[in-house]
Amino acid sequence: MTKSKTMTGAILPGNSTVEFREFAVPTPGPGQVLVQMKASSICGSDVRAIYRAHTGKGDEGYRPGTVAGHEPSGQIVEVGPNCKEFKVGDRVILYHISGCGCCDDCKEGYMISCHNEHRAAYGWQRNGGHAPYLLAEENTCIHLPDNLTYLDGALIACGFGTAWEALTRMRTGGRDRLLITGLGPVGLAAGILGRALGVSEIIGLDTSAARMDMAKKFGAVDLAITSDGEALDKIKALTGGKGCEVSIDCSGVGPARALALKGTRQWGRCAFVGEGNDIQFDVSPFLIHPQITLFGSWVTSLGHMTELTERLSRWDLHPDKTVTHRFKLEETGEAYRVAAEGQSGKVAIVFE
Ligand SMILES: [Zn+2]
Ligand SMILES: [Zn+2]
Repeated sequence: MTKSKTMTGAILPGNSTVEFREFAVPTPGPGQVLVQMKASSICGSDVRAIYRAHTGKGDEGYRPGTVAGHEPSGQIVEVGPNCKEFKVGDRVILYHISGCGCCDDCKEGYMISCHNEHRAAYGWQRNGGHAPYLLAEENTCIHLPDNLTYLDGALIACGFGTAWEALTRMRTGGRDRLLITGLGPVGLAAGILGRALGVSEIIGLDTSAARMDMAKKFGAVDLAITSDGEALDKIKALTGGKGCEVSIDCSGVGPARALALKGTRQWGRCAFVGEGNDIQFDVSPFLIHPQITLFGSWVTSLGHMTELTERLSRWDLHPDKTVTHRFKLEETGEAYRVAAEGQSGKVAIVFE
């Protein structure tokens, strides 16, 4: 393969801008592969913890100068020594956290929860997808089936994986109504996947009329309600006074998160996946007495991301339908500006 020696990558200086820097095109070492990027989408976490300011700490700490982008998908163009499964030409999704591979969490496939000092997330502590090539650990690659697009792959790498994990952990299925608070990209994913899992009725809440319309258009919700002081009464009215068996907060905003919990039916399950902020609610009437099971769920595991990928392929269901804005790498600044406005569907960088 002839590859150029250098490439341009996008970094996030933390002042609501994007800068470009030259990087050496990496050569894969043992157990590593070089992935030519085809799609690299933008996540709410990038905007929240890196783009506006470097507020992230620990696992969400951004190493300044790192190529951004933690939702990468592409094609392997070079493999290092001792790779066991993947070869040149393979289409791959990157599970976006490289864990130590040896701790209990890594062995369960939850590299997201690895506490080893060698844990590093693509786009946070090691170079990510906003560049023509990404150096990846082979054990973070997931095969992307031929009938899924690279954009599908990028969306599975974080947002759809996150929604899948919470929904399946709550054993969401055909007996359930689903309540979604926050109709950004993860909320859309929750609705689309919830329906695929058999949910018959989906109620979505947001404060943005544009996002409510989009969710209906994508078939992610049956009904969209404005998230305000009357929303809980409306949820109850729509569900015979009972609430939804399953609810998921994808907003990361306190009042909406509380609505997800309060809109959950007695004996129901509620998951928080939207990050940041806090929540205040009276524990007895809203959690203990209604016998609610409350889940915190962070991203997903390698195994469950693989499972999701297989199901999407089998169902011919395409996450990429939620992409409303596509930009070239050199337009990454504009891409982040649009994503940060919080009115769009998914925003993605695509490569020719
Ligand atoms: Zn993400
Ligand atoms: Zn580990």
